[in-house]
Amino acid sequence: MSISFSGAPEDNITTSRILPEDNAEGSLRPRTLSEYIGQEKVKENLRVFIEAAKLREEALDHVLLHGPPGLGKTTLAAVIANEMGVNMRITSGPAIEKAGDLAALLTNLQENDILFVDEIHRLNRAVEEVLYPAMEDYAIDIIIGKGPSANSIRLDLPKFTLIGATTRSGQLTAPLRDRFGVVLRLELYTTEELQQIVTRSAGILGIEIDREGAWEIASRSRGTPRIANRMLRRVRDFAQVRADGVITREVADYALTTLEVDHMGLDALDRGMLRSIIEYYNGGPVGLETLAATMNEESITLEDVYEPYLIQQGFLTRTPRGRCVTRRAYEHLGLDYLGQQQLEL
Ligand code: ADP
Repeated sequence: MSISFSGAPEDNITTSRILPEDNAEGSLRPRTLSEYIGQEKVKENLRVFIEAAKLREEALDHVLLHGPPGLGKTTLAAVIANEMGVNMRITSGPAIEKAGDLAALLTNLQENDILFVDEIHRLNRAVEEVLYPAMEDYAIDIIIGKGPSANSIRLDLPKFTLIGATTRSGQLTAPLRDRFGVVLRLELYTTEELQQIVTRSAGILGIEIDREGAWEIASRSRGTPRIANRMLRRVRDFAQVRADGVITREVADYALTTLEVDHMGLDALDRGMLRSIIEYYNGGPVGLETLAATMNEESITLEDVYEPYLIQQGFLTRTPRGRCVTRRAYEHLGLDYLGQQQLEL
């Protein structure tokens, strides 16, 4: 059984993955903690750690940032580097193929520099093992020669800070996770925070938008700044072509409805996911793998990209027996809600 939904999820306006059109993201990235909107608890903790490290003139403890894509992990790492006054090198788990690649990166760092590793859960074993002594003792062991005459020498590294980012902290091995002194979880943003982000981005891009227009975009961008910024740019196109260039609530509503994003920020795939659980599995519970197969989607995409928002909005629950849709989801889709017990009678 397989169902297809209109709009390829890869280039949906509501995907939190990076699209080519997000290239302009750089200019929208906040550079300091005070410019970084929301995530108050995380910022409060970081302020203390950064100040303490600066007072001691030491490198900041290793930091693990986790949370769904597009919430500002890369941005926050750059903010930390900026606040610490150090350089940051950016790489990602899958990009470091061999232990030697990581050794080269590490030996090129300067004292107190930051190494940012995105998707750190995707590091391979051999690379990860080089990382353990690097994080703990600021040293790496290099093997010289082969066979019985091989020798291991220890190379000291500058004191550095590793900032790891991951959408799935559960997939990190325990030894790696334990080596992070600071573990911070980024949460989906509130509509008020996203409204501030949209207003700030509009200012930078020279887009005219009123408060209600910003609110409309914010409330439909599924708690994610990357999506809010992308919607802002697409709605601007509509404003320029269909209105007088100013983004008002009406313009934003018209544009986003045309783009198939509903009032709650749900797109065709979200609605399809809820509908599949209702139509094929009586509202659940259904296992993630089964659901993914039904929808012809990867389970990782459903789990990382779609579920967090549906759960936050109370449309979906995760139970030990699988995913269940809630009464709210039936109501949102305009379907009659028959309680689970009624169905089983
Ligand atoms: P992640 O690394 O978690 O996938 P990014 O750091 O690339 O996300 O953030 C995506 C975009 O969202 C950035 O270009 C930035 O402009 C914007 N952004 C993220 N967090 C914030 C924030 N707290 N305040 C303002 N803009 C933000």
